[in-house]
Amino acid sequence: MTIYNLGSINADYFYAVPHLPAAGETLAATSLGKGLGGKGANMSVAAARAGAHVRHIGAVGPDGGWMVDRLMEYGVDTRAIARLDTPTGHAIINVDAAGENAIVLYPGTNRCITDQQIGLVLSEAAAGGTLMFQNETNGQRYAAETAKSLGMRVICCPAPYETSALEEVISFADLVILNEVEARQHRDATGRPIGEGTNLKVITTLGAKGCVLMDNMTGQVQEFGAPQVTPVDTTGAGDTFAGYIAAGLDRGHSLEQSISLAVRAAALMVTRHGTADVIPDLKDVQDARF
Ligand code: ATP
Repeated sequence: MTIYNLGSINADYFYAVPHLPAAGETLAATSLGKGLGGKGANMSVAAARAGAHVRHIGAVGPDGGWMVDRLMEYGVDTRAIARLDTPTGHAIINVDAAGENAIVLYPGTNRCITDQQIGLVLSEAAAGGTLMFQNETNGQRYAAETAKSLGMRVICCPAPYETSALEEVISFADLVILNEVEARQHRDATGRPIGEGTNLKVITTLGAKGCVLMDNMTGQVQEFGAPQVTPVDTTGAGDTFAGYIAAGLDRGHSLEQSISLAVRAAALMVTRHGTADVIPDLKDVQDARF
């Protein structure tokens, strides 16, 4: 089947600076790096590397052609990425000598996706397919409602966390994947754990400790450990994990089997520097010796 991923596409600009700039300060960066980023793009690449057919629903501007090319190179179906006349989303990431960072994010075209665009793409989708999304674009509610009515599997990754955005879509979701911080933000904002009183399955990722799967229908809780590795860069671990889960379910694997593969993929990911460009493929994950 096809995984439709409604997601952000960002250019990440990394500036190496001696220290993070203070108010009013002008600072010369010592180097500039540029890469493909955005939670959406990362998840599309991860699911494609895991062997799934992934159609990315997104938008770029006149400056975004290279990002679409990169996604295509990584095996993502890019035909549902709109070309608009607005700057593409980008992140200005200042990284100081100690590795501390400060980020300015410009959402750009990621917030210009229309319901009409989503509707047109999903009109080709079929029951049994998957919709996944994060919280870096617009259109999630329309997409989730449409996908649910078509009998698709709906995977919600509510990052960055925003209570109102999550509440709009949660009744359409089958599975929520979030990290510990987001789970805590939800508890603090609403006074209850995510999915309480629903049939939702919720995976909470716990960094080096792996993850927990909560089945709200049965009340069953299962813990999954992560392989022990020496991490060098944890950026994109959560996105790799989510992409592998979507691909596993799409292939017909159980959620437990999908999680077992996803924790291996994410563990391998944290041993590599970079984001979308270094997400491991299925063979690397299967061959990894942990
Ligand atoms: P990020 O924002 O860094 O992409 P996240 O905060 O969304 O990640 P985490 O809970 O940190 O999510 O990590 C996601 C998954 O990646 C974990 O469930 C685990 O399987 C794997 N992982 C993360 N850090 C490590 C680590 N140090 N060793 C092994 N696996 C890890």
